Amino acid sequence: MKKINVLTTEISNKIAAGEVVERPASVIKELVENSIDAGADKIIIEIKQGGISYIRVTDNGCGISPEDIKTAFLPHATSKIVEEDDLFSISTLGFRGEALASIAAVSNVEIMSKTDDEEGTILEINGGKFIREEVAGCPKGTTMVVKNLFFNTPARMKFLKKDYTEAGYITDIVQRLVMANPSISFRYIIDEKEKLFTSGDGQLKSCIYAVYGRDYANGVIELNNTDQNIKISGFTGKRETSRGNRAFQNLFVNGRYVKNRAITAVAENAYKNNIMVGKFPFYVICIDLPYNMVDINVHPTKQEVKFVNEREVCDQVYWAIKSALSKEADEIRDTIKNTTIGFEKPNFEPKPNPEQTFIHIQSPNKTVERPQFAQTVIKPTNKPTFVERPVNQNPAFTENMFVLKEPSKEIEFEDKKPLNYKIIGQLFDTYVILELENQVLLMDQHAAHERMIYEKLIKMNDEKQKAYQMLLSPVAITLSANEYALLDEKRGVLDSCGFVVEDFGSNTILVRQVPVNLGDEDIKTVILEIINNSSTSYMEENIHTIACKAAIKANKKLSDKEIDQLVRLFVEEGGVNTCPHGRPIMVKITRYELEKMFKRIQ
Ligand code: ADP
Ligand code: MG
Repeated sequence: MKKINVLTTEISNKIAAGEVVERPASVIKELVENSIDAGADKIIIEIKQGGISYIRVTDNGCGISPEDIKTAFLPHATSKIVEEDDLFSISTLGFRGEALASIAAVSNVEIMSKTDDEEGTILEINGGKFIREEVAGCPKGTTMVVKNLFFNTPARMKFLKKDYTEAGYITDIVQRLVMANPSISFRYIIDEKEKLFTSGDGQLKSCIYAVYGRDYANGVIELNNTDQNIKISGFTGKRETSRGNRAFQNLFVNGRYVKNRAITAVAENAYKNNIMVGKFPFYVICIDLPYNMVDINVHPTKQEVKFVNEREVCDQVYWAIKSALSKEADEIRDTIKNTTIGFEKPNFEPKPNPEQTFIHIQSPNKTVERPQFAQTVIKPTNKPTFVERPVNQNPAFTENMFVLKEPSKEIEFEDKKPLNYKIIGQLFDTYVILELENQVLLMDQHAAHERMIYEKLIKMNDEKQKAYQMLLSPVAITLSANEYALLDEKRGVLDSCGFVVEDFGSNTILVRQVPVNLGDEDIKTVILEIINNSSTSYMEENIHTIACKAAIKANKKLSDKEIDQLVRLFVEEGGVNTCPHGRPIMVKITRYELEKMFKRIQ
């Protein structure tokens, strides 16, 4: 063993610096956090060559007085905590008193600072050594210039990446600091070009706009909850803003950007069945809670936090996102519902609707006359009366839970607003085209129907309802020996899914009851999938399968009445605007977009 030495302050500062200052981005984070703690409402951040050769952070905060300015650069020098108890209710971003000492140990620093009532000071430090201190005339606030980072620690220097990569890390940090502080005006300059500017108008949405651009800012839903202690605010992305990685997820706890696995997990869980597998939601979640309910002193760069009551915080986040997403679904429906046409309460005998045109459909043995909905605006006063039930009915609609009441001969006046959409028709036998005010809506018929059946089944399952259907003639399914052996343990699941299955001997079962209308082949597929499904979340998956099989398929011609029923069901009962696999149900093209395409407008 060699002799034991106590390290010089210079070496120990360099070692400590390694913990706080890993790369230029860490310097930016520490300096900007100091500016925020100093109460600044204007911060300018400038970097050159990825922040390696030059960093400047200027703020209009409280400044540092001449007698304190040197002390600020000593290790463990802080104005933010005084006694041990303060550690348990930290309201500032910094508190360890390490940043300035660490930065100054591994770079050339020049600081210029002035408080309200004194003269300003300039201080220069090279590799931890004070080399100049002068009185200076400068505006209130602080400017820190950090040059030649790691000039005296070549080992660290070697680990730095290319300038533009380092600049990218800095941009990430700056963006997060910007979103955490909507009331501060930020200006961010890279190699003399302005990269980002915010006005500090206090609106998080303005910051999202500045950071991510217009499409993201328009693609978010506001979050809020009603809990007294834990406040959840911010925005969560609509389905179309989800991305293939988690880079677009932002979590702020008491104004501090942090990472937290539990919150990430619940946030993503709240999106289950709304976005595609493999996609991650975009969000800017702000959690504010009493300072003593969260420990921020668990990580050197304070990137992780520990909640005193993690479960409760997670629940609040989950429900805030869930209700935001369902609010969005309601908005879609309301747009359709509320764009109404004027109508009067009828006090007269129903008259034939002049707008209603009739088409003749040749069925094998007779001609039936029925109204053509395709060009008809639906109003309560002119509910069409069918001469005969439409031919070519899709079995999915004969099932009572989705069949609209057959229009009565008498006009029953409902106090419901009429829906002002116009059904244009069906495209490729797969998409329903609707005209609604100044937009064209394209609806995926399978996805829409699947989502509605899915929601209904989930609800029935949750409420333990048993509104299922007996089959007129049971469906026999012959199983393999393996499947037959699995049957016993799957009986409970089949039962909760709404199937009644009887043993018929010789590896054969008889299905007597089903949850929704399914064709014989689909009954077989669903039962086999349920029996063979070993996944842990199988209840939900089984319901997916049932919904998928029971829903009308793509490439299926629909009658006008079926189209109308589907649209009405979606408007009145439909949930989220995605199928259970996360594909969109409805997309829209505005008249404006069309007119641009045809160059009617510029
Ligand atoms: P900490 O932020 O953990 O207190 P720092 O080393 O980052 O430690 O800063 C040391 C002290 O210097 C701070 O506590 C603060 O009093 C002062 N200080 C640093 N930067 C600024 C600034 N931009 N404006 C005003 N005071 C500052
Ligand atoms: Mg600090």
